[in-house]
Amino acid sequence: MTQELVNAEGQKKEKNNKNARFVRKPHQDNQARRDSPFISVVIPLLNEEESLPELALHLENELKKASHNRYEVIFVDDGSTDDSFSVIRSINQRNRRFKAIRFRRNYGKSAALSAGFNAAQGLIVITMDADLQDDPAEIQNLVKKIKEGYDLVTGWKKKRHDPLTKKIPSKFFNFITSIASGVKLHDFNSGLKAYKRVVVRNLQVYGEMHRYLPALAHWQGFKVTEIPVTHHARRYGKTKFGLSRFIKGFLDLLTVLFTTRYFKRPLHFFGTLGTLFALSGFGIDLWLTIEWFMKKTALSNRPLALLGIALIIVGVQLISMGLLGEMITKNSLEKANYQISERL
Ligand code: UDP
Ligand code: MG
Repeated sequence: MTQELVNAEGQKKEKNNKNARFVRKPHQDNQARRDSPFISVVIPLLNEEESLPELALHLENELKKASHNRYEVIFVDDGSTDDSFSVIRSINQRNRRFKAIRFRRNYGKSAALSAGFNAAQGLIVITMDADLQDDPAEIQNLVKKIKEGYDLVTGWKKKRHDPLTKKIPSKFFNFITSIASGVKLHDFNSGLKAYKRVVVRNLQVYGEMHRYLPALAHWQGFKVTEIPVTHHARRYGKTKFGLSRFIKGFLDLLTVLFTTRYFKRPLHFFGTLGTLFALSGFGIDLWLTIEWFMKKTALSNRPLALLGIALIIVGVQLISMGLLGEMITKNSLEKANYQISERL
């Protein structure tokens, strides 16, 4: 072998050795696992400057206990116009486990949660509101329930400290959502929840869907449950959702039902409704026609005939809508988007 070749060989070996430095040894893997967070807390916030310092202190205490110091807190500043972000900056300088994402403008709570979910590294992801209404002491109870094998645990504000104008419609909403979605929960829209990482990686939170995350997760086949949690009255600032929450909430419920229950079979929804309409219209008109045939009354004297006709028309339209839906579904990229939990 010429000297040149030997040199080249040597250099190659050296290069391999260099690469070897970047190959993780098992003990390094363990190290990385020890350093990566076990719990990620995601906190969406909009103008909550007064609450943040106290919230951070509580969280530090509780997370030390619940995660043996393996945690991260991700504040998602949803376009605050007060000093929230400078407060977060000083919290971050004191404790680097407190991180932040800042939106350039206000996008809404669902968007903030979604950004936080994407950034979260922990095996368990906790969400909570920033206004001190949710109690950080509940984190360990939520984590305990996740360790029992549930994929999503939601906090049930059993004794709720909010004005009646919010409590009563909310009770009604939860009742309807529970029946319509088939998920037996008292409180869907609690800010305080715990998820396994796999759940947040799969949930698509947009619009104002944060109200229905347990229903969405349930329909993806995840195990969902709730535990009662303590709830406090808002101390600083005011609620960020006005009366419009109820209208939007109702529309989003329709979307949730439609995209979960009927997404892959629109004709079952529109077709059933349409057939019922068309059949009852046909029944009414048939009866009127028989009576007319037997010379009982003239059809011009029977206003019911119009209802019959309207029902038939609406029914046929609904069925055609279902068929159109089927055609769209057939070509949709999402059609084979099934949740797979394991492969061997
Ligand atoms: N929030 C947000 N973006 C918004 C509205 C609210 O990030 O557009 C945050 C808010 O700062 C709080 C949480 O979402 O941390 C819950 O909001 P709020 O307390 O106003 O709701 P409520 O308790 O009245 O249902
Ligand atoms: Mg609140």
